[in-house]
Amino acid sequence: MTLPQRDTRVTYPSGALTATSRVLHVAPAPDGRLAVITEQTSFHPVDAAWPDQPADAGVMRVAGIEHVVRDAVVAATDGAALHLGDEIPVRRGTEGWAFVVAHLVDGDAAIAEGDEVEIEADAATRRALSIGHTACHLASLALNRVLADHWTKPAREDALGNPDFDGAAIASSRIVPNGSIDRYRLNKSLRRAGFDTAAIAGDLEAVDVRAMIERLDGWIASGAPVRVESEGGDGLGDRRAWVCELPDGTVRIACGGTHLTSLAELSGIRPSFALVDDGGTAVLEMVTEARPQP
Ligand SMILES: [Zn+2]
Repeated sequence: MTLPQRDTRVTYPSGALTATSRVLHVAPAPDGRLAVITEQTSFHPVDAAWPDQPADAGVMRVAGIEHVVRDAVVAATDGAALHLGDEIPVRRGTEGWAFVVAHLVDGDAAIAEGDEVEIEADAATRRALSIGHTACHLASLALNRVLADHWTKPAREDALGNPDFDGAAIASSRIVPNGSIDRYRLNKSLRRAGFDTAAIAGDLEAVDVRAMIERLDGWIASGAPVRVESEGGDGLGDRRAWVCELPDGTVRIACGGTHLTSLAELSGIRPSFALVDDGGTAVLEMVTEARPQP
């Protein structure tokens, strides 16, 4: 069995749900499953290095038989072994390594190297995650804007020229169907960078949710187009960006996920906030809910 030498070609960034491809490699995976690597795929995998958007749901068909894809993870190989998920020992882009999508199927699935497969990601699951991911980026931009006055030193700017609170404080981001959950650490290093953490940690009212919603409503009303642009080729490891042509300017945010094609597909984005404690560090949690157009 030969291991792939090139990154899996991925078609989900442009919105594709189905792909026909050839199986390059089949390997044993945890829980008695099989990891199936194909030359190309439409299946979005979860990336253990930054697991924001979960894997697509869907199936793989081989010779007319349908196999449920139980999970899909980013894997990597140097030609000697296949490393799945958090067992990948190198960063993306490391010379001599191929980054691939491992489709995990039941251990008794009759799929072999060389087989022709049809891959189909579930449309409803994908759409709900794309809604959640687009809303997540917009909410982070709106949050940066309403927190701009809480910086006492010049900070790195976001795509709209506001101090990038999201980039400076993000601890984790989880895309869920029609929404997201982002966690921001209000810690010492953020304070040293010039952000007034005490103002937020002491009083959640310091986050002007109404101003955020006004801004988000304006962006949705503009019906701005959204696209995912590749900064390289169509390989899994190539850098991609979320691009949205907002009235305030065209914004680009590095992103490996899937998205809507227009903000006109949304009817509302509603963020809400809570303070949680993570081992003595105050954490600001933003739960974002997005409503699609009926
Ligand atoms: Zn993203």
